[in-house]
Amino acid sequence: MKDAGETSLPLPASLATHRVRHREVRDVIVGHVAFSPTKGLWFLGMLAGAVCAAAFFFSLAGLTLFVVSTAVVLLFGHSLGSHRKLVHDSYGCPRWLEYTLVYLGVQVGLAGPLGLLRQHEMRDYAQRLQECHDYLRHGRKWWLDAWWQLCCELRLSNPPEIALEKRVADDRFFQWLERTWMAQHLPWAILFYGWGGWAFVFWGVCARVTAGVFGHWIIGYLAHNHGEMQRVVVGAAVQGRNVRWTSLVTMGECWHNNHHAFPGSARLGLREDEWDPGWWVLSGLRSIGLVWNIRLPADLPPRAELRPV
Ligand SMILES: [Zn+2]
Ligand SMILES: [Zn+2]
Repeated sequence: MKDAGETSLPLPASLATHRVRHREVRDVIVGHVAFSPTKGLWFLGMLAGAVCAAAFFFSLAGLTLFVVSTAVVLLFGHSLGSHRKLVHDSYGCPRWLEYTLVYLGVQVGLAGPLGLLRQHEMRDYAQRLQECHDYLRHGRKWWLDAWWQLCCELRLSNPPEIALEKRVADDRFFQWLERTWMAQHLPWAILFYGWGGWAFVFWGVCARVTAGVFGHWIIGYLAHNHGEMQRVVVGAAVQGRNVRWTSLVTMGECWHNNHHAFPGSARLGLREDEWDPGWWVLSGLRSIGLVWNIRLPADLPPRAELRPV
């Protein structure tokens, strides 16, 4: 592989304050993809439970529990808690609300909050460089990307430091969630068992986690390969795409071309016809005083590398 440290363009200024600090650019490029027993068995186990739900425990009540609980954890947890707050700190809110949203984000079943934050930062940083490992840019055929993202992990030969701010890294609640993120699904499994037996466990936990993890992969794949572009990040190895038809099911996370252009913006769907349920809820919370200091593209430092299509 070409030594990316010798490529022509200098690193954009927007990377100077990034949480990822590499020694050489090749540190975020050189590595191999390997099967991860924990990640693979977690996903395949949940998938088996989801198949059981559909095949042996189909009921309207179970399906409703699945749809409602999945919508809650994707909207309040993943989009508002993990992504727009924990990763990008794009709005202010009371600490109790942040904890609640991040807790719900853990219920998506992807990782603990700190692990998810590190994964996001690694991917975000690598995608802005001129070269990027295919794992981090969703650069292979869909079926290989599915195997990689759902059951494998990227092992970089010389991984860079990812410096998390003390406010997040030293937080006892986040550290506890990080240690116990898999076990955090147990209380809900017990509650659902008491409420509706195994049917509710399979629908309310296994099917929900399967949809969250699988959905996260497929949107990640589409949002880096297929979809509209309004802006280009010049010099970046991969561009984000807006996947319009998934706006409601992704709670607005599908506006990934906008997100590559304005990563610090709390609003992802930037035009009126770009539906963004996460933004709608955030606006509602602001109107009742629970959210403040919302950052929008106009509040972010200008980026020389940004061009309209
Ligand atoms: Zn991206
Ligand atoms: Zn992001």
